[in-house]
Amino acid sequence: MTQTFMPTVRTPEELRRLQLDGLRWTVRHAYEGSGFYRHRMDEAGVGPDDIRTLDDIRRLPLTTAADLRDGYPFPLLSVPLERVVRIHSSSGTTGKRKILAYTRKDIEDWTHFFARCYEMAGVGPGDRVQIAVGYGLWTAGVSFQAACEAVGAMAIPVGPGNLDMQCQFLVDLEPNVFCCTASMALLLAEEVERRNLRDRVKLRTVIQGSERCSEAMRNRIQELLGVEHVFDITGMTELYGPGAGLDCHQHQGIHYWADYYLLELLDPRTLKPVADGEIGEMVVTTLRKEGAPLIRYRTRDLTRALPDPCPCGSVLPRHDRILGRDDDMFVYRAVNVYPGQIDEILSEVPGVSSEYNIVLERRFGRDFMTIYVERDPAGDPLKDEAVEAAVAHRIKSHILVSAEVKVVDYASLPRSEKKSKRVFDKR
Ligand code: ZN
Repeated sequence: MTQTFMPTVRTPEELRRLQLDGLRWTVRHAYEGSGFYRHRMDEAGVGPDDIRTLDDIRRLPLTTAADLRDGYPFPLLSVPLERVVRIHSSSGTTGKRKILAYTRKDIEDWTHFFARCYEMAGVGPGDRVQIAVGYGLWTAGVSFQAACEAVGAMAIPVGPGNLDMQCQFLVDLEPNVFCCTASMALLLAEEVERRNLRDRVKLRTVIQGSERCSEAMRNRIQELLGVEHVFDITGMTELYGPGAGLDCHQHQGIHYWADYYLLELLDPRTLKPVADGEIGEMVVTTLRKEGAPLIRYRTRDLTRALPDPCPCGSVLPRHDRILGRDDDMFVYRAVNVYPGQIDEILSEVPGVSSEYNIVLERRFGRDFMTIYVERDPAGDPLKDEAVEAAVAHRIKSHILVSAEVKVVDYASLPRSEKKSKRVFDKR
């Protein structure tokens, strides 16, 4: 590949210097350009001149989704409207939409770091990329396409759904890369199997985003499509859109573009930083965004930092996969527990399916947790007891809490088309 989209910095120290420059620029830009930010910072008694080190970020006030909605239709806008060349909106379900404004430079920056995702996934000239994500106001298929063209690959912008056309193009145009959501990847994989197209499909890479995907689901996608790599791509509209990070070929966590945004992980209750390796809410601060910069924006998404250097050698730091939303968190015997942690543990134990319920009860003045998990369709009921013990043991050793585990018949727990309710708190 001739052009690289990777950062020019080589060491963590250089990266930190670049980040400090970006932070100082952003705080000044937002303070001078946005009445909202200026007011918030004045209230907090902090201004652009107070940002001398990266740690000074903690002096800045947090921003939330409510702030974005309150600022409708152009929240956080820090440039004159004449400089805005595009807007996108997040598909919020309640109240006012969150609309984000982009300058020309924002769009170029977005394309640049998104191209980095393709580069990290090994996609470049000669590759053909079938893009099966939505285009338009709510979703940003356009960014998948612009970055694909930037790395010199061929874009096949089919858009979402339409399995007939997806399958036809997979066979006729022989793309080797497929971009989609995780559920779309699974749908497609099962369709390819149903139509017996596996031998005629030349895919080797799937880049999938925007939802949590269990290890079992990922393996199934990989196996049915016969692809070498399934990459997770992160991003959200507030932070430009998709393309904010990707796991490398080692698949040991997501590299995120720390030269474009700072990531803090905070305890969602105390808003204090969590210790390295502990789960926290992702709070992001952009370093170059002009139109609608983010300062300490609470994403509600949960993950943990992976502070060790990646075997791939990249200077770009890593976080774990997204483990859920902090609205899903519950406190059990003084420990923060996230359904995503239970997901992870269940996917490591053979004999269970991905479906489970967590019931929390209070008995004799103490909290009790029972996890009902479905037996794998091919599982043996005689092994239930051993499976229950294995899950309970893993929960104890990984989350440091005790839970009773009950294996139930496959398909006996309620299913939902939308997000399933998994936690039943009866305390
Ligand atoms: Zn890596």
